[in-house]
Amino acid sequence: MSLLKEIPTVAILDQIAEQCGLAVAVAGRRGDEISASNNNSICRMLNPDGKFCRECAAFCGTALEESLEVGGPVTFTCHAGLDCRADTFLLDGKPAAVIVGRSFSTAENYRKTTERASSGDWTGFPADELFENIPLTDAADSLEKALEIVAKAASDIEPEPSEPVVEPTESDVLEIDAESPLPAAQPTAEEPAQRAVRPRANVAAWRSFFSELQSRDYVSACESIIGFLGREYQLGSLAWLDRRDDRLVSIAASGELRGRKLKLGIRADDPRLAEAVNNEEPIELGERSRSAAGGRRTMCLFPVPVGIELPSAIAVLGEIDDGAVRRQLSRLCRSIGPQIEVLRLRNEVSRREALASAVRRFGEGLKHADSDDFWLHLTQVATELMQAERGSLLVADPITGELEIKAAIGARSAITSDERPGGRVAKIILKRGEPTVVADVTRSGLPPASPDRGYKTASFMSAPVTIGGRSIAVINFTDKATGEPFSREDLDLLHEISPQIAVAIDRAVLKERAGEFEQLSVTDQLTGLLNRRYIEERLMEEVRRSNRHGYPMSFIMLDVDHFKSYNDQFGHPAGDEALRIVAGVIRDTLRSADVAARFGGEEFAILLPQTHQNEAAMIAERIRANVAATTFPCREVTISVGVATCTDELCTTEGIVLAADKALYAAKHAGRNTVQIYDELGEMVA
Ligand code: GH3
Ligand code: MG
Ligand code: MG
Repeated sequence: MSLLKEIPTVAILDQIAEQCGLAVAVAGRRGDEISASNNNSICRMLNPDGKFCRECAAFCGTALEESLEVGGPVTFTCHAGLDCRADTFLLDGKPAAVIVGRSFSTAENYRKTTERASSGDWTGFPADELFENIPLTDAADSLEKALEIVAKAASDIEPEPSEPVVEPTESDVLEIDAESPLPAAQPTAEEPAQRAVRPRANVAAWRSFFSELQSRDYVSACESIIGFLGREYQLGSLAWLDRRDDRLVSIAASGELRGRKLKLGIRADDPRLAEAVNNEEPIELGERSRSAAGGRRTMCLFPVPVGIELPSAIAVLGEIDDGAVRRQLSRLCRSIGPQIEVLRLRNEVSRREALASAVRRFGEGLKHADSDDFWLHLTQVATELMQAERGSLLVADPITGELEIKAAIGARSAITSDERPGGRVAKIILKRGEPTVVADVTRSGLPPASPDRGYKTASFMSAPVTIGGRSIAVINFTDKATGEPFSREDLDLLHEISPQIAVAIDRAVLKERAGEFEQLSVTDQLTGLLNRRYIEERLMEEVRRSNRHGYPMSFIMLDVDHFKSYNDQFGHPAGDEALRIVAGVIRDTLRSADVAARFGGEEFAILLPQTHQNEAAMIAERIRANVAATTFPCREVTISVGVATCTDELCTTEGIVLAADKALYAAKHAGRNTVQIYDELGEMVA
């Protein structure tokens, strides 16, 4: 115990923390935090009152015990993914732990933390405060060095130091800067840009530039870096590029590259990028076509690494002859990587929060949709959310797959059936199955809209709505209210609300189909005719009516001849097809009031209300003749037909069905492909 040193004052710890860019905390024996300099904002958020929360208690809270137990420094990564190193010192003569670090050393741990903040147990914390100060370390031994500085300061001071002075060693976290001379401070208007002569001043300037960056949002920080480098190195045109899938896209640019879309002949996962980082040399890319000045210019690409990932790059238009400058820029990119990544992820978290709240608003909006104007309401809520002036919704018919327009918001001219809003592009989108944002339709290769649509802009966004792998609808938005083209962010938002749109549409389509389902239960699936259940019910009704009012009524049974052999010879599917054709002939031959049904197997029944025997016989004969005259795919098909008519004697449902069946049986006996009529005398009339 006698070897332990008294912890420096909080003022000194503040300086050390600031100088190392890490947190330096002091924790007592009972798991309480006595002080925390340059504290990580996550730790500040979790332990607002100096008492460790349960999760933190298991890490920083036991730091003292652990270091006492091993008799020296301990290193740990806490539940939040923060790397820490702690050792035992004395505070007013009692043991206390100094914990340095609370920093992320891997992008992976940092990302996990942002996940917790965006969708996990930390969603309640405001992103701005949670990510206000996040130290990142890339040097493996930076925590050891920081703890050494604390130890050195501890030994140097008297119990009551009057003027605490901390001399940073040459080997502290700024070491990397010593090898790589850094640019001078950002020049003011009066002060022309100049290269610094004293590395220490450079370091200070660079640090102050950085500390100023930390309060910015991501894109403006990227712009600021580009501006800084442009001034310091007299580079006219630069761009900050971000990785999007396998491409690098410009998000901030200066000079000639401003507002220009960059098409780089290199993929974001090209191994040359990692090589460039290792070699501290940019990749040189040549311009594909000659510039206005006549020559083909070079572009130098400096990847910006974060750990082993390369999420960004800085592009400089033109050659950089000076090897030292190339190396300096490479090193600068390496040193800004982790810092800028903090901003990017912070930005990402607030973006996701904004998205989540938009999705909640959308859900709330949908609640008020009643069934009558459901389609219109859904389209309206979505269109408002996307800040579009026009929106349309096309829903695919569940059976035919044909798109049907359900609602259109903001269309100037009335919708005509031949030119449906969205129909032009929607089919393509539905087929492609991918959401599409088009900045300028005239350059997209898609068919242009007719001018009478009066679209204000050439940009639109269109997305298929899918559920369980099925594409059920297409939703389109045109004319963004701001007049700007739709962007990737708009597409992200649409992507977020798509599941809700999909569920709402699916439910509505099912509801609409409920009526059809009722119909399905009385319909024969194979032929589309009514089924036996239905015709028997109708027959009962008609028999009752006929008995009561004396209306005539006839009933036909028909059966396909030698159908077994048709199946045997050509297979069951061919048999099915033949049945469909027979059903079609029956349907086409009948009048609208007649009711035809598939009675079972290859037997059909037809109810002919208000029809006397003679008329029924004629209809039966017409059907027989039409089937016989129809060309079937495999061989000719004939039917045998039995007809029964309601009379005073024959006036029950069962009786009529039996009579028609008897007549049919007689027709088979008579040689098939013929019609037989049952008469009250029980005789068959040909
Ligand atoms: P008949 O002229 O005496 O009516 O001879 P048939 O061969 O048609 O008579 P049978 O009743 O013995 O055979 C009927 C055949 O109809 C048997 C069965 O394989 C076939 N069948 C019944 N329902 C279906 C169906 O839904 N699809 C197909 N493809 N065949 C069917
Ligand atoms: Mg048959
Ligand atoms: Mg049969």
